[in-house]
Amino acid sequence: MIERAVIEEAVAGLGEPPFRARQVYEALTRGLATDFAGMTVLPMRLRQALAARLTPVTLAEVETRISRRGDARKTLFVTADGHPVEAVLMTVARRATVCVSSQVGCAVGCAFCASGRLGLRRDLTAEEMVDQVLAAQRALLSTGRRVTNVVVMGMGEPFHNYDATLRACRMLNDPAGFALAARGISVSTAGVVPGIERFAREGLQLNLAVSLHAATDALRDDLVPLNRSYPLKAVFGACERYVQRTRRKLFFEYVQLAGVNDTDEQVEALANRMRRPLYHLNLIAYNEAGGRFARPSPQAVQSMRARLEARGVRCTVRRSSGADIDAACGQLALRRAAADDPADWGSGHRPGRAGLTSGG
Ligand code: SF4
Repeated sequence: MIERAVIEEAVAGLGEPPFRARQVYEALTRGLATDFAGMTVLPMRLRQALAARLTPVTLAEVETRISRRGDARKTLFVTADGHPVEAVLMTVARRATVCVSSQVGCAVGCAFCASGRLGLRRDLTAEEMVDQVLAAQRALLSTGRRVTNVVVMGMGEPFHNYDATLRACRMLNDPAGFALAARGISVSTAGVVPGIERFAREGLQLNLAVSLHAATDALRDDLVPLNRSYPLKAVFGACERYVQRTRRKLFFEYVQLAGVNDTDEQVEALANRMRRPLYHLNLIAYNEAGGRFARPSPQAVQSMRARLEARGVRCTVRRSSGADIDAACGQLALRRAAADDPADWGSGHRPGRAGLTSGG
C-alpha cells in the first residue's frame, strides 16, 4: 500500500494532474491492484514512471492455511527485508474480520504467546499493516464479501508502535480509499498505560481492547511481564479515564489457561475489577502452542463464564477459529522460525516492483 499523500506527491512531481493521483489511489484501495502495469486507465508512460518510483505492495505471501471449517484463513507473509508477518481472516456469519500484526515478533513476552518467543525484530510500517487487510480483501473477492472488521491483535504490541498503528487505522478508514468504518477497527494493548491515555485523546471512533489474562498482580507479573512496568492499578486507572473521556465501551480480552487463570481466586478478583459501566469481557480458550499451558475444556470455559456472569460481569465467550491452523498470534511464524532461517523464506516471492505474489 502507498499512502495517498505519497501518491499525490509522486504524480504532481511527474507533472500530471491531481485526478491521476485519485485514479491510482482508487486502483490500489478499491481495485486492489498489486502493480501499476494493470492500471490501464493510466497512460503507459505514467504507469512506467510510477513503477520506477513506488512499490504498491509491501508484503509477499509465503504460505496460507485454511481451517477445516473454512472459517479461518491464516497467511504468512514476508517483508521486503525478509521478516515473517502473519494475519488471520475469520469469517463468521456476516462478519469478515482480519487480525493484523503490528510488529515482527513482540517485546512483551507473554508466557503463553508464540510471538513473545520470537522476541521483537522490528516495528511494521502502516503500509505493511494495511497490506495485510488488502490481501484479505483479495482473498474474499470471489465470495463477494467485504472486510467488515479489523483487529490489531496479531503479532506485536500496537502501542509500542503507536504512530504507525494509528496511521494504518486512518488509512483504512479513509472514505476516499478503503473506507472501513472506524467502529469496525479495534486496537488491542497488553496494558501500555501511556498508549491508553493517548488513544483516549485521539477523538476517533476506534475501539480499544485491553488484554488482561490475569486479575492479580502476582499472576499477571508472570503471564504478562509488562505488568511489572504497568501494574493492574495503573492499567485500570487509565481504563477509567478512557471510559470517562470517550464514553465508549471498553473490551477486555482474557485468554483462559486451564487451571492457571480460571481459579476461584482469579474469578473473584476479575469480577471485582470488571463490574464497571461500559466494561465488557471477552473470554477466549487458549490455543495450545507447545508451551507449559493447556487449553481448557468447553465445560471449563462455560463454568468460567457462568461464575463471572453470576457476579455481574458482562462476558462473551469468543468463538475460537482455526486451532487446526495455528491461528493464535505468532504460532505459524514461530513454527516457521524454528524450521528454517527467515532470511530464506519465500525465495522467489520477495516483494519487489513486479511479480509480487502477495494477496492470495
Ligand atoms: S500476547 Fe500480544 S503482547 Fe503478549 S507477547 Fe503475544 S503479541 Fe506480545
